[in-house]
Parts: sequence; C-alpha cells; structure tokens
Amino acid sequence: FSISTYLREHIRTVPDWPAPGVQFRDITPLLQDPEVFRTLIKAFVDRYQSPERRPDVVAGLDARGFIIGAVVAYELKVGFVPVRKKGKLPFTTVQETYELEYGSATVELHTDAVKPGDRVLLIDDLIATGGTMMAGKRLLEKLGATVLEGAAIVDLPELGGSQRLKESGLALHTLVDFE
Ligand code: 5GP
Repeated sequence: FSISTYLREHIRTVPDWPAPGVQFRDITPLLQDPEVFRTLIKAFVDRYQSPERRPDVVAGLDARGFIIGAVVAYELKVGFVPVRKKGKLPFTTVQETYELEYGSATVELHTDAVKPGDRVLLIDDLIATGGTMMAGKRLLEKLGATVLEGAAIVDLPELGGSQRLKESGLALHTLVDFE
C-alpha cells in the first residue's frame, strides 16, 4: 500500500484556475471521502505522536491548513493556533509580509498563540514557492517558538519551495509530489 499513490488518486487537478496556465491541485475530494480523510489524518497523527516528534502546539496556515491542522491537533491532544491572513485576528498580533508572483501578502499570529520554547508543528495543504510556510515559521520564531517540522499533503518540487525551506533549516514532511 502506497499512501502517496492512494492520496494522489483523490486529488483533483483543475486547469487554468485561479489564472490561465495554473494547474490547481484541489484537495477537497480527499476531505469529502470519509475513508480517505481518515487515512490522510492517520498518516500525520502516526508520525507526530511518536515521542521524539510530538509537538506542544499545532499551527495551521490559512485556510486549508486549518482543516488538517485542527484535526491533527485534536488527535494528538495538543492545542491548535491559526496563522491568518492579515486583518482577521482580533487581539494583538505579530505580522510577516512576503512576496508573491504579483504583489505581496501578509500573515498574522496572535502574540499569545505560542510561548517561548514551544515546539510547534506547522501544517498547510500544499507547498508551492514555500513563501507561505516560510512566513509562518518566521512568525512562530518571532514569539520564541521552535518549528519542529513543516508538514503538507502536497509538494510541488519543481517550484523549488520545499528545497528552499529545507535550505533554511526547516525539516519538511509531505505525502504526495506533483511534477
Ligand atoms: P506558496 O506560498 O508555497 O507559494 O503557496 C502555497 C499556499 O498557496 C498554500 O497556503 C496553499 O494552500 C496555496 N496554494 C497554492 N497553489 C495551490 C494549489 O495548486 N492547490 C492548493 N490546494 N493550494 C495551493
């Protein structure tokens, strides 16, 4: 049984969305099928409940990282914190701005979301250029936390993001590659 092959069969590729030339990897079919959803969550939970990898906190990246991250946190019996797009969090925040192909994006984290020394698992659905996950890591580090590992369902290795993240010292765990 290959988890990679199994999950890949349940990811839908939508051509030319949200812009011409983009092949969007749509993970909603993974969530929709109860058996596939459970298999996906179990793959992460099995990895992170081992004593040496068990985090103190799971941080999820807006917005699909919330879906996976919250369930993984619940199963690991640790807390969940959201890294949100700018303007959504009500309390005091730290912010990080990063470059996109056109323009820039800002993400935020509540200043009390993690404590100095917390060991954090950072989760999203997909790594493309790696900019989103890098910004999340920086936010957590601004508050003195350590990111144990970044996890995602999908990696797009040709975009170089996972390589850059690894070169910056972030350990990564992804389940499916798409060329
Ligand atoms: P990056 O910052 O690595 O360039 O882009 C990753 C972020 O954009 C993630 O938060 C991810 O949800 C979103 N994203 C970019 N392209 C795709 C895609 O093809 N499929 C999905 N599901 N998300 C994508």
